[in-house]
Formats: sequence, C-alpha cells, structure tokens
Amino acid sequence: MSDRTKKLGSYDKEFVWHPFTQMKEYEEKDPIVIEGGEGAYLIDSEGNKYIDGVSSLWVNIHGHKVPEIDNAIKNQVDKLSHSTLLGVTNPPAAELAKKLIEICPDGLKKVFYSGDGASAVEVALKMAFQYWKHKGEHNKTKFVYLQNGYHGDTLGAVSVGGIDLFHSTFKPLLFESFQAPSYYCYRCPLNKTYPSCDLACAGELDKILAEHNTEIAAVIMEPYVQAAGGMIVSPEGYLARVRESCDRHNVLLILDEVATGFGRTGRMFACEHEDVTPDMLVLGKGLTGGYLPLSATITTQEVYDAFLGDYEDFKTFFHGHSYAGNPVSCAASMGNLEAFDNYNTLSDLQDKIEFLENELKEFSGLRHVGNVRNKGTMVGIELVEDKETKEPYAPGAKMGWRVADRAMEDGVLLRPLGNVVVLMPPVGIPMEDLKKLVRVTYNSIKEVTDTY
Ligand code: PMP
Repeated sequence: MSDRTKKLGSYDKEFVWHPFTQMKEYEEKDPIVIEGGEGAYLIDSEGNKYIDGVSSLWVNIHGHKVPEIDNAIKNQVDKLSHSTLLGVTNPPAAELAKKLIEICPDGLKKVFYSGDGASAVEVALKMAFQYWKHKGEHNKTKFVYLQNGYHGDTLGAVSVGGIDLFHSTFKPLLFESFQAPSYYCYRCPLNKTYPSCDLACAGELDKILAEHNTEIAAVIMEPYVQAAGGMIVSPEGYLARVRESCDRHNVLLILDEVATGFGRTGRMFACEHEDVTPDMLVLGKGLTGGYLPLSATITTQEVYDAFLGDYEDFKTFFHGHSYAGNPVSCAASMGNLEAFDNYNTLSDLQDKIEFLENELKEFSGLRHVGNVRNKGTMVGIELVEDKETKEPYAPGAKMGWRVADRAMEDGVLLRPLGNVVVLMPPVGIPMEDLKKLVRVTYNSIKEVTDTY
C-alpha cells in the first residue's frame, strides 16, 4: 500500500464517522480510498478498478465523467455557483423545472426543490398535511406507509419507514402512522400466493383507507421496488390498485421514486409501468446522474393551488432548504437529461434488461439462492440457509458481505442489504461491463455459499 493511501486511510479512521457503518469493524480494515471514476468503473488510490455495481449507492446513471454533465457543471460554475431560491430564481432551476414537467407523468405541474431524498420526502409529508388543512379537513393528519418501505433517515421519513432494523430504535421520536403489508411475494406477510391472492396486500391497504380515510392525509410508497427493504418487486397491478383506492377514499398518493426514478426500472419513472400519476412524485439520487445532491417534490396544480392566498392569510408553504434549486446541481441535472437523449439511454436499456433477466435465471439454480427478483436493472438476489424452508442465514453469517468481499477481489464493488445481494449498475453501463458484473457476482455467490 502506498504511503499516500496509508496517510489518507489514517485521516479517515481518525476523523470520519461513516454512515450506516459499524465503525468498530471498519477500523479493523484497510480503507478503500476511491479517487477516480471512468464510465461504469471506480478507481482507488492504489489504481485498482472496480465496476460500480450499485451505482455509488443507487445514484449514478450514465457512469462517471459524463461529458454532458461535466461540461454543464463547469459552465455553470463559471457563471454562478449558488444563489437562494427564496423569492428569486436562477436559470438552471427554471429550465430544469420546465424539463422535469415535460418528462414527468401528465398531471404533475410544480417542482419544489430540496437537497437529499429524505428532505424531499419531508416536503411531501408536510405539503400533504398542510394541503388538507387548507381544504378545511383538519383531521386528515396521518399517513399510510408500507412494511419494508424506506424513505430516508430524517424523522418524518423514519415515521413512515417500515424497516424495523433501521427504524424501531427511534420509535419514541416518531409520529403515529398506519402500516400496510409489504408486497413481498417471496415471503408474503399474508401467507398468500400470487396471482391467486388477487393482490390481497392491496386489499389490506384499501381496508385501512376505508376505515380511517377521515384521518388520513396520504399514502406514501415506493412504486414497484422496495429498494432498501431488499429490492422487493411488486406484483403487476398493485400500484394501479393503490391509486384507485386513494381516489375512492379521498387520500393523496405520494410516490417515492428516489431509488426507482431515471430509468432504473426500464422506464423513466416506475409509475409509468401502470400509467399512474401520483399527487406527489419524489425524486432524488439519479436526478443529477449521481453527481451532486438535488431532490424534488413534484406535485399537481390542485395541490399547489390550495396554498395560494394573500400574504396575511399565511397559506404559504413554510419550508425551504438553503441549497434548494442550487444552480450547479440543476445544471448537472440538465446535463444528465441531455445524456439520456444523446445516448438513447432508455431504448438501449431494453437489451440490457433482457440480457440480465436471462442471466438471472441461472442464479436461481444455485443451492443457496432462495429468490431472484428484478425490475429493470434493480436486482435482488436473496440468499437463504435452506431453500426448502426459506430459512434465512443468521445475521452473524454476514452472507451478503461475504459475497461482496469476494466480488471485490475480482473488481466488482457491491453493497448488500442483509442476505440480499443487490445489483443496481449505472443505467448506461456498457454491455461488456454488465456481463462482467453478472459473472463475478454469480461466481462469488457460488463460491462463498458452497464453502460456508
Ligand atoms: N427514498 C428512497 C426510496 C431511498 O431509497 C432513499 C435513499 N436510499 C431515500 C428516500 C433517501 O434519500 P437520501 O439518502 O438522498 O436522503
């Protein structure tokens, strides 16, 4: 290891507290210092190259060093790096909002910018709450969320989070919400089987709305894929059923596409698979192609209009982040959308999805692979101790991590979710890199699970 890497590693261990990381374990390892990127690859300070198998935590879309995004950022920095969006605007913020409304499902009309995904979720929750107040429905103050759902780590987002491991510790700090069952077919919480279940999970959500609609402001969920919950893929028809329930019971629908947006599921937005327009669409992560923090809560004219009034009516949406609509981030996002056009990202993606789905069939044959699921390029491979009984590996086995560590030796960077090996490569990954990613992952799973 070079002296430089050693020095950086020691600074890191001494001064940085890493997110979602057991630091006791981290401190025992040699840190990997990522200092370069090229296409679908990351390069560390020792010159090793790794395929960015989870898109740098699900943000990267067209790879690293994308000319359209690089240039957009450089040009913008030459003009203005930041000015507030409180009361004034800037060119990239205005242009990007126009462009987003063009590509979003019909019916969405207004873009509210924030920084991270969790902040945009907070905006959606507060906006939904205040919308009903303005409508005179003062009791509609609660939310419905899904078991296994994840919407970020701020307290509002955690209040509508359904992953016990991440969320139960903070329960005393959270507001009360209703939980509906997950659409997790492999381990159906209702012990049913698709399709004979007739989407009983959507039926349960409908029951909650039927019973409590006078107190419910909105349903919030991840459409098609519960990402952090373990890349759980919804059965077809579920999303449309939820939209229909929300309409019937006079409840808003918030779709969190922070993870699923920008081509991940094979369409620009996952809700397009079922022609669903939410009342609020939450975007983040891939919005800037994985370059800079930027998120958006995009809503309908109906929601927006409820907030209009005279100054002294105080119907204003009293919420805002310092860097909302940051011009450099918005310029990066324009560059990302330009790259979608220049590289035919969405049409080229279909062959890659087909290839991936074919290859994944082989994974199902492995002795310790219980379930393989994907929507587009979002893939979850669930490892089990016993395939017959679906007995999971004990947490102490750290099976997902064993596979990721093995894959790293062969130049693939992964980050599992418990026993679920996750693949979420950049949407624009070249076919040969995708092939390598799949091969290395397969071999790593086989070797690690065969020898454990
Ligand atoms: N919503 C979903 C669906 C997510 O997957 C995430 C992050 N993994 C978030 C919200 C939170 O985004 P951020 O980390 O940018 O706050």
